[in-house]
Amino acid sequence: MFEKLNLSENQQKNDKNADIEKIKCLIIGSGPAGYTAAIYAARANLNPVMYEGLQPGGQLTTTTEVENFPGYPNGITGPELMEDLKKQASRFGTDIRWGLATAADLSSRPFKVTIDGSKVVEAEALIIATGATAQYLGLEDEKKYAGSGVSACATCDGFFYRKKDIAVVGGGDTAAEEAIYLAGLCNKVYMIVRRDELRASKVMQERVKSTPNIEVLWKHQTKGLFGDGVVEGAELYKNKGEANEEIVKIKIDGFFLAIGHKPNSDIFKEYLDLDEVGYIKTIPGTSKTKIPGVFACGDVQDSHYRQAITAAGSGCMAAMDTERFLSENA
Ligand code: FAD
Ligand code: NAP
Repeated sequence: MFEKLNLSENQQKNDKNADIEKIKCLIIGSGPAGYTAAIYAARANLNPVMYEGLQPGGQLTTTTEVENFPGYPNGITGPELMEDLKKQASRFGTDIRWGLATAADLSSRPFKVTIDGSKVVEAEALIIATGATAQYLGLEDEKKYAGSGVSACATCDGFFYRKKDIAVVGGGDTAAEEAIYLAGLCNKVYMIVRRDELRASKVMQERVKSTPNIEVLWKHQTKGLFGDGVVEGAELYKNKGEANEEIVKIKIDGFFLAIGHKPNSDIFKEYLDLDEVGYIKTIPGTSKTKIPGVFACGDVQDSHYRQAITAAGSGCMAAMDTERFLSENA
């Protein structure tokens, strides 16, 4: 049987520091999906509590210009956009907190989510908006040179490679965007692309092509990195697995990963259906997971679109689905 909850905002605030806190609506994650869910949930009087996780503002805080989020005819930077979303969620009363969800028990309602390994939040409804995290190739050298030439964030670290030669691994929109951004700072940018075509959208492909200091290394894969304490170069396979396979070396100071992201769904995998990559499966056309009262939105459940606006749209759906669920299951 479900324990009936009707907590006032003040009761929630009073319990904020308790080891166990009971709330109506918990939102995990503070990207476009989480903040949009928060705006809708707060306006529906669900008194949402949000935990921001290790990357407040989510993936867009690692990018410069966002040109395709509706409402900004001249574009906006990722961090500014996320700050605006945060202000809007706060304005309607969302309780936004530092903290990482480290475990979840979704076996019965209220759902129990552990924050930072100690505090437990018991929520009548849960919105998962944990997004996705940058992938690495899995080479030992990535760890060896972490912070000494290896990065997964061009906008964070590009500044340190001004007028130097660097490489970006990947052929998607992120790789194209990062290569173009770095081309504005660096002397030369190699794009290490494992196939003979880019996955990036046509407009980004055109921009890569028309940037003179970007050289695409088609059908190349990274074998390893070398350098005395810091990255000084990379060894690459060219035409790996083919008769004409060879190993080539490039001289670089920075090695930027841009090969995609892994959905942050690990703590829920015992309870929810995930696809082979780890994306949470939702009932098509809704944000509902297989557990009534648990909703997922944004990149953690979207292997296809993975855009800020689609994440925001699905955050809206999650809040509306939550509101309906709570009114039917009070
Ligand atoms: P995310 O933005 O990934 O946010 C996830 C949130 O969950 C973070 O706040 C994180 O701290 C939190 N979190 C994760 N795990 C936990 C946990 N256990 N406990 C608590 N919190 C947790 N899209 C566009 O539309 N236009 C663009 O121009 C564009 N540029 C991009 C540039 C780059 C470099 C990248 C990487 C992506 C870009 N995208 C762009 C894609 C866009 O950023 C994503 O689609 C969008 O951010 C997804 O939003 P989200 O809310 O699902 O998750
Ligand atoms: P992505 O579209 O999944 O592309 C990943 C790229 O990395 C692909 O080229 C892939 O190669 C390559 N790759 C993956 N694993 C590799 C490995 N082990 N070794 C070498 N290469 C590897 O990821 P993304 O570029 O991060 O984009 C994610 C989403 O965000 C997309 O939907 C994208 O449209 C969106 N986004 C949008 C913008 C924008 O609109 N301006 C900017 C950035 C991102 P293959 O192609 O061979 O698989």
